[in-house]
Amino acid sequence: MIRNILLATAALAIVTTVPAGSAPRRPAPTAPATLPASSPFAQPSTLPWQTPDFARIKDTDYLPAIMAGMAEHKREVTAIANQSATPTFDNTLGALEKSGLLLERVLLAFNAVNGANTNDTLQDVDTKTSPLLAAHNDFIYLNAKLFGRVRYLREHQAELNLNPEQAKLLDVYYKQFQHAGAELPAAKQTQLKAINQQLSTLQTNFGQRLLEAAKAGALHVTDASALAGLSEQQIAAAAEAAKGRKLPGYVLPLQNTTQQPSLESLSSHATRQQLFEASIHRADRGGANDTRNIIRQIARLRAQKAALFGNANWADYTLYDQMAQNRATALGFLTRLAPAVSAKQHQEAEDIRALARSQGATFEVTPADWNFYAEQIRQQRYAIDSDKLKEYFEFNRVLEDGVFYAATQLYGITFRERKDIPTWSPDMRVFDVIDADGKEIALFMIDPWKRDNKNGGAWMSNLVNQSYLRGTKPVIYNVENFTKPAPGQPALISWDDVTTMFHEFGHALHGIFAAQTYPTLSGTSVARDFVEFPSQFNENWALDPKILPHYAVHYRTGQRIPQDMVDKLLRARTFNQGYEVGEVLEAARLDLDWHSLPASAPLQDVDKFEANALANSGFDTADVPPRYRSTYFLHIWSNGYSAGYYAYPWTRMLGQDAFAWFQQHGGLTRANGQRYRDMILSRGNTQDYAEMYRAFAGRDPDIQPYLDYYGLSGATAAPQPPATPAPTERGK
Ligand SMILES: [Zn+2]
Repeated sequence: MIRNILLATAALAIVTTVPAGSAPRRPAPTAPATLPASSPFAQPSTLPWQTPDFARIKDTDYLPAIMAGMAEHKREVTAIANQSATPTFDNTLGALEKSGLLLERVLLAFNAVNGANTNDTLQDVDTKTSPLLAAHNDFIYLNAKLFGRVRYLREHQAELNLNPEQAKLLDVYYKQFQHAGAELPAAKQTQLKAINQQLSTLQTNFGQRLLEAAKAGALHVTDASALAGLSEQQIAAAAEAAKGRKLPGYVLPLQNTTQQPSLESLSSHATRQQLFEASIHRADRGGANDTRNIIRQIARLRAQKAALFGNANWADYTLYDQMAQNRATALGFLTRLAPAVSAKQHQEAEDIRALARSQGATFEVTPADWNFYAEQIRQQRYAIDSDKLKEYFEFNRVLEDGVFYAATQLYGITFRERKDIPTWSPDMRVFDVIDADGKEIALFMIDPWKRDNKNGGAWMSNLVNQSYLRGTKPVIYNVENFTKPAPGQPALISWDDVTTMFHEFGHALHGIFAAQTYPTLSGTSVARDFVEFPSQFNENWALDPKILPHYAVHYRTGQRIPQDMVDKLLRARTFNQGYEVGEVLEAARLDLDWHSLPASAPLQDVDKFEANALANSGFDTADVPPRYRSTYFLHIWSNGYSAGYYAYPWTRMLGQDAFAWFQQHGGLTRANGQRYRDMILSRGNTQDYAEMYRAFAGRDPDIQPYLDYYGLSGATAAPQPPATPAPTERGK
């Protein structure tokens, strides 16, 4: 996941953020419109790279700085909008790109700590400021004078001699204004403002409730025998987690996905079922942590908002600037994959049930049991023991000799650890990123371990955005949610965790190589269905024969990972993909269905809606539930991925096709890496995505490497429906 698209720049960023909090009628917190010089946000940080000084920043510094930042930005935008000079690129868009620096400074720091290290004070700031930020966004994008200047530039574009990056920036601003309602009649603008504020509040409430729900939903057991099957280390971690909560016994905290990591090891069906039920019902049990009433309101408000713009549904409204461009193309992509994937899902489910029967299972096999048996099938057929495998993946070694090493081989960059940069958690490590010519190009931080005050999942974001215009270099962080080793234990992580590290670092590279003048177009500020392309592409190097043996070294003996284990890992790659690919595609389908509702649709019954959506998806959802159920689908209800979750498989398709290009051109070489760095990673949002890809690969992306990668090609049960254009045909 990535979070900096939500806050790319002060101007455009806030548009998509719409996080937010309390009732809109609540009186606005009062704060002076200017910030006292003593505030750590009053000036750009004097630390290297302008990194926020987390040693100096107190929780109470955020609210006044956000308030003052909005006031300052308002003054700047008003001055730009009201000037009498004829609009020029520089006095309008150039000036906007230089505005809002204080607000951006504080919001980037605030989002980092509120996401990765939150507390009541920070959540209260979020609650108070989110509706105000939504309104602030409206202030900019519903400013008729400002839009008049942008429209003037658009109409006189032929005379302006803009370079390609400037032309792109104008296009982005113009459409953003349109999309924000600048061309709507006044009455509709009033409705829009009300909807935006309600959405903003609901979306923040959803995120906060879900965090509580996950915390409260953790499985607590007092009897160690219920945990039979877990390794000593896992049990020690569970005891540690209980201690952290001042509880006796053991706690298995919930990850934000449907499936939970312990389910593959727990030998008791009853415990598995308990943990699984705790996961899927974390937010639908009634009471304070139930998210259903929030969801149905968000879905309806989004449909109503789309209708104000003349769009049939939220998906069509929101996909305009994506690579897919509309609901039909995104839905078509999922629909085309359903026959092959569901065939594989049925096949895998039969294997699971057969194995359970052969072991005398008298219970009805449920999705709670899937990973337990799948793990055994994996071991039978591929003989990979996940716990043994973990012994080759020590976190620091994976980071330095795997993730960093691959980047050095491909892109020529190296990493130098530094200890003088304050962070928000002692768990973190910080590195200068140095280019092949010795120049320092970025700062990178990583926050690896799960904490109760950290949002679920893993993500990348910026603390400082890259911009030649502002003279700033990127400061980037990765947040993971790996299980923290018990004191004295080695930091062994799973193969999934290894893949996640490569994934998040793929985002980091997209930010590290950013080379834009204008921050709005910089680095990872690209479409959702493009932004996960570099990250998913980067996952491929984890298994590369030149990379894997370099980092996969036994934590105790120092022995390299044995070749037969590597071979098995490679063979095992297509195993269980009906489940793993399927759960993602199903979640994507659920997302698109929620966002296909017309404005006239009544408030939905969440349980019924979800059951219908899944039943009609074409996937085997009885055996394979979606990766996220509606009630805990953070991506789509509060993290900016609404109608956009399809972007994960879509960008996987791009990532596998690009990797196939590498394989066809000699694999891991500096030359190939440089080409990809120059033509994709350093381009930001300065070029049409399809054209950018075509320039890199010399052709359009093809879906076949995606199917091959997951071993889905052979499972195709029905002929491909001709319905929607394949991605390869797009743009023609
Ligand atoms: Zn990602």
